[in-house]
Amino acid sequence: MTATVIDGRKVADGLTSRIASAVADARDAGTIPGLATVLVGDDYASSVYERRLRKLADAVGCRFVSERAPADIELADALATVGKLNADPRISGILIMRPLPPHIPEVELYRILDPAKDIEAVHAVNAGLLAQGLPHFVPSTPAACFYLLDWYCRHIDCDPATFYDGKTVVIVGRSNNVGKLALWLALGRNATVVSCDKHTSDAGMLAHFTRQADILIVAAGVPGLITGDMVKDGVVAIDVGINAVTNPTTGKTQLVGDIDTEAVAERAEAVTPVPGGVGPLTDVWLVHNAVRAATALNPDLPHSPWLAP
Ligand code: NAD
Repeated sequence: MTATVIDGRKVADGLTSRIASAVADARDAGTIPGLATVLVGDDYASSVYERRLRKLADAVGCRFVSERAPADIELADALATVGKLNADPRISGILIMRPLPPHIPEVELYRILDPAKDIEAVHAVNAGLLAQGLPHFVPSTPAACFYLLDWYCRHIDCDPATFYDGKTVVIVGRSNNVGKLALWLALGRNATVVSCDKHTSDAGMLAHFTRQADILIVAAGVPGLITGDMVKDGVVAIDVGINAVTNPTTGKTQLVGDIDTEAVAERAEAVTPVPGGVGPLTDVWLVHNAVRAATALNPDLPHSPWLAP
């Protein structure tokens, strides 16, 4: 089987003009959507991500503010930074970037986020609404996974409203930011859902479960974790992982996913590449959520709809 490689960049590029037009409508109604990032320390991947978001926000006409703090910032000052953004009327959406230093527990920052600006649904109110299937915001990375799946579904002339019914979706990784949230989205689509994490691997059971997947979503942060013998023929495999590794031949640093793409593509119906799969859609969705937040805060504007393929 030769798998379809789902080109996330192309799909994301197709959405940028739709977001730019939503921003233009908001501006016409006197609202400029504003995205703020909070970055504590100098994590390289977070800095790269922040730069990408700034570029995209600029391209669609959205305001972008970056709050940076040194890794040794006091917790009280980090909380004050979030409080300042909560109160800033120019900001409609706030992203707290991870990893955070150990003395700044992410949950402390999440707890004080204004739920109306919590575009990643990390505040308990938004996480709860998502779990109940009534999301105010659908967080970017899980949304990107399902956007690409819905897109693929249409590509093969299926209806995303019924495509997932009874299918087995296996999700590897269950972080509060990605894996656990993807579980709620899969449940909301009537799939049979299996959650695996490090304990599943430690128990020697990971392949047992991944081989049952009709749809496999992997967000573990372990390069090449899923090999060709760990999937069944015809799987649709979504690779969320972004891992910097050294290429043994060139000695250069390169980004790879959690899936051995080449080996899995031999058996899969479709796969997402890394880079160029989930990542570009995640960026677009995050900026779009900041735009949706801005329209929700302005009663004169129609609420910007979810993006659909
Ligand atoms: P995390 O470290 O918070 O969580 C990792 C999860 O994977 C945990 O539940 C852990 O138990 C599980 N895990 C770790 N090793 C495992 C193993 N050997 N077998 C099974 N499960 C294992 O990470 P995260 O924030 O959820 O991110 C996961 C990956 O996704 C990272 O590579 C990250 O860079 C990437 N990521 C990509 C995007 C994107 O837009 N593409 C966005 C966010 C995160």
